Amino acid sequence: MILIDKKENILSGYNSYLKDESKLSFGDVSCIAIPENERELADFLENNYKKNIPITISNGRTGVTGGSVPLNGCLLSLEKLNKIFGLEKKGEEYILKVQSGVSLAEIDNYLDNQFLEGKKYFYPVDVTETTAHIGGTISTNASGERSFKYGSTRKWVRYLKIALSDGGVLNIHRGELFAKGYKKEFRFPDGIKKDIILPKYRMPAVKNAAGYFSSQNMDIIDLFIGSEGTLGIILEAGIALVSRPENIVSIIAFFNTEKDAAEFSYSARKTLDSALVFEYFDKGAFELLSGKFPELPAGKEAAIFFEVASDSRNIDRIIEDIAKLLDNHGCSMNDTWTGFEKKDAKKIRLLRHAIPETINEILAERKNAFSDLHKISADIAVPENKFLELIAYYKESAEKHRLQYTMFGHIGENHLHMNILPKTPDEFRIAKDLHRDFAKRAVALGGTVSAEHGIGKIKHEYLEIMYGKTGIKEMAAVKKVFDSKRILNRGNIFPEYLLDDK
Ligand SMILES: Cc1cc2nc3c(=O)[nH]c(=O)nc-3n(C[C@H](O)[C@H](O)[C@H](O)COP(=O)(O)OP(=O)(O)OC[C@H]3O[C@@H](n4cnc5c(N)ncnc54)[C@H](O)[C@@H]3O)c2cc1C
Repeated sequence: MILIDKKENILSGYNSYLKDESKLSFGDVSCIAIPENERELADFLENNYKKNIPITISNGRTGVTGGSVPLNGCLLSLEKLNKIFGLEKKGEEYILKVQSGVSLAEIDNYLDNQFLEGKKYFYPVDVTETTAHIGGTISTNASGERSFKYGSTRKWVRYLKIALSDGGVLNIHRGELFAKGYKKEFRFPDGIKKDIILPKYRMPAVKNAAGYFSSQNMDIIDLFIGSEGTLGIILEAGIALVSRPENIVSIIAFFNTEKDAAEFSYSARKTLDSALVFEYFDKGAFELLSGKFPELPAGKEAAIFFEVASDSRNIDRIIEDIAKLLDNHGCSMNDTWTGFEKKDAKKIRLLRHAIPETINEILAERKNAFSDLHKISADIAVPENKFLELIAYYKESAEKHRLQYTMFGHIGENHLHMNILPKTPDEFRIAKDLHRDFAKRAVALGGTVSAEHGIGKIKHEYLEIMYGKTGIKEMAAVKKVFDSKRILNRGNIFPEYLLDDK
């Protein structure tokens, strides 16, 4: 195991281990541990448990909420637990078994080279940042562009091997361990049984990555998915695959107005039954990208990126249907970039990926003048019938204060990332107030304060808006059953002090 326990070495050679994409400041860290195998990890956990040393778990460190940023104790990186064990067939499904530190790009490459009964398969959760590791994506219940068709990570996890803070190991298979109502008598690896009382809040009926999953009679595997490393350390996972469509057509259509784009996406998602993706880009996004992508058409107000699965028999009909739909919304095939091959889709995805990247670059530049500036990024989803109301509210609020902003993302799931790019500390303060306001509005509309990025260390107050103090305390009570010494991922999901609240 690589163990760095001298402060000067941590801060010089291993500084990058203390950050994620949130750019949250790290705390006083006493060691960085990088185990090469599960045995080394078990020894490390046992030792830390005896000494009550807090542990922050890190994987790809692409998280945007500070979840893997340590506030104290040791940083545990799982990057070397990165074996792909291979495929097995269970019933009708193919399951890929991997260790926690395997990246999504590695999974994609591995599957690209496999033919199973003459077909290619893929893992359908296409998180935009493919350097994210599977352990990180399960811990945050991540989702991707194709979640419109395939749903979030939770839907695809069939098995988890989890280490608890004392080193004990759980193997949980979907479909084997259920709560009774909101209660589960749970047998721990040391043989002791304890009751888990699940939170009784009602989760919103939208894509959601905020707080613990909880529902009556739930499968206990779902408690760990999206728990942001607060309950245990994911060592291995079995993830289900789907067969690749014969062909995927990728299209980005540029519209004259935002209204045309939004209405096109509404019509298209109801009528194009083979659609996989609907992503939205506003004018603010074009402005940000114009330097990197000068070929973006001028004078357009919004765009929709969508993908459709097709085969040689239906492709002509699908393109005809799309052309008609575009025509109904002030657009035509001439206003699109259309690609029939994987490389074409890659170019469009590059454009999509470049938006958050460019925002981060701009803010990094602005931080030179005002070091406390951050982007404000709302990760809110609401029910379909409330979506346009929320978007109008975003625009009105940002424009009232003359703030630079952009909205982009998963319009197919009523989930846009509203990003405000403050230029001064005053604007930053206003933007923070607006974010709180957006969270309140989202909850009032029946939505979630985080649809895909999770709560981490920076969105506690929004989670409280969503589930109230009682809901947060119920989550903290679950954590205390699994991690009685509060060792794992302190400060994630709820503030640390709540864990001391008897
Ligand atoms: C440009 C960009 C685009 C992005 N696009 C998307 C997107 O499309 N969809 C999306 O959902 N997210 C997106 N993200 C956010 C990020 O990629 C996801 O949150 C991802 O799931 C994080 O994975 P990771 O391996 O980097 O985890 P990390 O950042 O290392 O950790 C994330 C959280 O999981 C915990 N954790 C990590 N590994 C384990 C483990 N083995 N056991 C228990 N807990 C663990 C960490 O402690 C932390 O709380 C994007 C980020 C960037 C920078």
